[in-house]
Parts: sequence; structure tokens; C-alpha cells
Amino acid sequence: FTLVDPLTGPGKGVRFSDVAGLREAKQEVMEFVDYLKRPEHYKSLGAKVPRGALLLGPPGCGKTMLAKAVATEANVPFLSMNGSEFIEMIGGLGAARVRDLFKEGRKRAPCIIYIDEIDAVGRKRSGQPSLAGTSGESEQTLNQLLVEMDGMATKEGIVMLASTNRADILDRALLRPGRFDRHILIDYPDLEERKQIFEQHLKGIALENPPNSYSKRLSFLTPGFSGADIANVCNEAALHAAREKKKKVVKIDLEYAVERLVGGTEKRSHAMS
Ligand code: ATP
Repeated sequence: FTLVDPLTGPGKGVRFSDVAGLREAKQEVMEFVDYLKRPEHYKSLGAKVPRGALLLGPPGCGKTMLAKAVATEANVPFLSMNGSEFIEMIGGLGAARVRDLFKEGRKRAPCIIYIDEIDAVGRKRSGQPSLAGTSGESEQTLNQLLVEMDGMATKEGIVMLASTNRADILDRALLRPGRFDRHILIDYPDLEERKQIFEQHLKGIALENPPNSYSKRLSFLTPGFSGADIANVCNEAALHAAREKKKKVVKIDLEYAVERLVGGTEKRSHAMS
């Protein structure tokens, strides 16, 4: 797994203000920030804070960013792992990885444990024993995850966040009260959010005019784009300007980048429909 110190690690200092749009999602995770800052205070009041949340939504819309921002704002370590890292493991290694992750989390509490693409490890169990009579490797891994999540209830100061775009295939045990009973939707950005995301990413680019003179038009040109697509547009535009040996990025570079990426997002929406 990866351990990121919020202030020195990679992606350091991703703050709520860097995450454009997602107003409601930010409000929902704010409670975790306050809890991580002073778990004892909550404990002394007898308040039970949800131990975690599932961030649901399509790829590239800010789930990982938001989870990292919670860690930065609370100034706690961020331990992350991708669900696919738990699978394709044999001889109980997947379950051992889960144990290690939580062991480290207990050592570093208060902290955040984040599992990206949890569907890779958390898909519905078949309920059928395998040929050898034992449950399969991936079921063992999922069982271990459930055990660790339940064990977490006795330890203060660990917030568990996970993301998926396939909530429909998750094992129901993961969604029971006390586990991921709280769901936060992080969907494709709407018009206004796209404008804000453009402004955020255009800030880092040498533009001919200020970002807000382009962002409105760009947001109209990009329905269906994710935040990651928008970041890509901005970078493509800068690359285009560089290839053409310009000193500043201009409107044409941005429009060229949008056109280039529209092809890709159209293909994706056909694949989804
Ligand atoms: P995945 O499911 O593929 O892991 P994700 O939802 O976790 O996707 P992120 O990794 O958070 O997506 O976002 C990818 C990149 O897209 C970010 O690093 C950032 O550059 C950009 N991005 C996405 N959403 C936003 C946003 N709301 N504001 C600013 N930038 C964004």
C-alpha cells in the first residue's frame, strides 16, 4: 500500500479548495475532518461518528482527490491501496495484505485508510465453496476486510473511505450498518462545475487572457467530460501551444484540445450505453 504524509507526500496538500464543484460531497466529508482532528472530543460526548463512507461515481470525477483532501485538511496520514492489488494473490496473500494495511492504520491513527476500486476485492461472494471445500482466495480476502472493518470499531480515529463505480456488484455485507452504510455520490460535473474545474486547471497554464475569459465557453463545449478529462484538455492545449512554438496558450489551442478529447469521451459513452 501507499502511505502519504498529507504535507510532504505525493499529491501533497490537496485541499478542499483544489477540488472544484462537489459542494454537497465536500459538506458530507467535512464531518470526518472534524472527527479526525479531535476524536477524543467525540468520544467524550458519546457521539458515534460513521466509520467511513463509500464514494460512488464514474472514473476521474474527484473521488481520490476528495479522500486525499480530507487527510490534508485534518492533517493525518493517508494510507491507500487499490482493490486490484488485493486480488490475483495466492496462498492467503490477499488477506495478509488487508491485515497489514489495517495494522499500519492502527499504528498511525488518527488516519485515513482509502481503498480505490473496492469492487475488485468486494464483489459479491458466490456462497459456494470451491472444489477444495475452502472458500476461494478472493472470498478470504473480502472476509478479512470485513473482519478488520468490524475490529476498527474499537479503535478511535480511523476513517475508512473507499471508491467504486460499480456499487451494484458489491457484496451486501460491505454495505451493512457499521460498514459502508454511508454513500456519497460523485458524479460527472454539471455545467457550472465544469466551469469551476476549468478555472482550477487553467490557473497552472500560461494563458493569453485570464482563465475566466475561457472557462464559460469551454464548459459549454464539454458536456459529459469528467474532471480528469478537463485536466487533460488543459494539458493538451499547453502541449499544442508548445508544439507551435507559441509563448502563450490561446483560444485555438484550447478548442483544438477539446475537439481531440471529444472523440474519446464519445467512444466512452457509446461503450457505456
Ligand atoms: P478513479 O475512479 O479513476 O480513481 P477518481 O474519481 O478517483 O477516479 P481522481 O483521481 O480524484 O478521480 O481525479 C483525477 C484527476 O482529475 C485529478 O487528479 C484532477 O486533476 C482532476 N479532477 C477530477 N475531479 C476534479 C475536481 N472536482 N476538481 C479539480 N480537478 C479534478
